[in-house]
Amino acid sequence: GRKRNIRNVKAIFTDDMLTVMADDLNVEMNLRRALDLDEFELYYQPQIDCQSGKVIGFESLIRWNHPERGLVSPVEFINLAESTGLIIPIGEWVITQAFQQLEKWNVNKQVEFTLSVNISPRHFLDVRLYDFLKQSLETYQVNPKNLNIEITENVAMEGLTQVQYRMSKLHELGITVSIDDFGTGFSAFQYLQHFPVQGIKIDRQFIRDIAENEKSMGITKTIIDLGKMMKLNIISEGVETVEQWEILKKLGCPQLQGYYFSKPMPLKEIENWLNQYQH
Ligand code: C2E
Ligand code: MG
Ligand code: MG
Ligand code: MG
Repeated sequence: GRKRNIRNVKAIFTDDMLTVMADDLNVEMNLRRALDLDEFELYYQPQIDCQSGKVIGFESLIRWNHPERGLVSPVEFINLAESTGLIIPIGEWVITQAFQQLEKWNVNKQVEFTLSVNISPRHFLDVRLYDFLKQSLETYQVNPKNLNIEITENVAMEGLTQVQYRMSKLHELGITVSIDDFGTGFSAFQYLQHFPVQGIKIDRQFIRDIAENEKSMGITKTIIDLGKMMKLNIISEGVETVEQWEILKKLGCPQLQGYYFSKPMPLKEIENWLNQYQH
């Protein structure tokens, strides 16, 4: 009967769990509102040519300007956005910002920047991603080769043919795909064998102690050699010291990203940063 069900419900959901669920609901409502009120903001972190030190482009990283909590990190809301499906409109917002920014940077400029955007697994596997990108390419004056999509290895959970198909559709558009946090998943090498990706980002856990730990150095060297053999673009993430830069230069890593060069910054700081960096 009904009473029994209610008792069961009480037995299954502890007070802590109910609090968590209420919090999640609250965050979901707030995320929707954040989209409507334009509370999201993209920060940009420079990507550097390892040999010359020159800026090649940027990775966009989302932030949430919460009216009470201040700047909220994506690690606090991306998972929930993913599980509720809100990641699709949020991802589309990110893509639109990215196109607008690329157009501003690259139209009539001598230097062309690339822009990497993070797309979550659910969005990557959704048919709407292709349509939205195609539409955006028609709307904005952007060379598709300057847009790079970063996905993590767990996209592969959905099965080989599905992921291969999605990737080949993006290739049709001329957009490149990179594997983020490379080396942290269990299927890293399978990925390279089966999926038509153009780049890998070596996870910062290997870069962190590359100067002290021979294993980290060895793994990094192996990934770089393998990536080069496969003609992939390779970026090391999480570069924080000049020693790490020197080592990665010796290992022949083409590109770098990390706090040593700059933390992710709001758009309004970029021009200043570029001027200072170039001197
Ligand atoms: P990610 O794509 O692997 O981004 C790299 C993270 O490392 C960023 O954290 C960045 O601020 C941080 N980082 C960069 N350089 C260094 C360094 O030298 N040292 C250290 N310790 N950290 C460094 P952030 O911005 O908090 O983003 C965390 C994750 O959230 C991202 O990891 C990405 O998976 C996700 N994310 C960020 N923006 C978006 C977005 O627009 N869409 C989606 N779907 N996910 C996003
Ligand atoms: Mg990334
Ligand atoms: Mg990463
Ligand atoms: Mg990461």
